[in-house]
Amino acid sequence: MPRPKEGKSRDGAPMHYSVGALIEMGGRYLLIDRANFPFGFAGVAGHIDEGENEIQALKREVEEESGLKVERFRLIFEEPIFHDRCSRGITGHYWYLFECSVSGELKQDESEAKSIGWYSKEKIQNLKLEPAWEHWFKKLNIIE
Ligand SMILES: [Zn+2]
Repeated sequence: MPRPKEGKSRDGAPMHYSVGALIEMGGRYLLIDRANFPFGFAGVAGHIDEGENEIQALKREVEEESGLKVERFRLIFEEPIFHDRCSRGITGHYWYLFECSVSGELKQDESEAKSIGWYSKEKIQNLKLEPAWEHWFKKLNIIE
């Protein structure tokens, strides 16, 4: 198992680096119902591994979790989020959120997702979102 890249936040606490992929097609967003902690609906996301940069991690995570290939991407947010504890017990994550266009055929990774699918803004409004994604969907005015 590759190890997540680790750093330190300003107060000296260990921190992970993570990438998220905001993937929209025809007004709907690709979301996973996460099978692992932290639970909730979320976009494709994951840790940046040691020896990897954020773009390599983005392409790998999208491929692993959705079977899709990233065709184009644009960084939309880069920010630390605290209090988003991961399964490895680290609460601080430095996030890179990319907007992506993709190609290929959607497939579900059963180890990561209870389901995967496309959701309209109206549907997302009523989903229980994973905290980081709730934060971004609000920041992007996709939900209220
Ligand atoms: Zn982590």
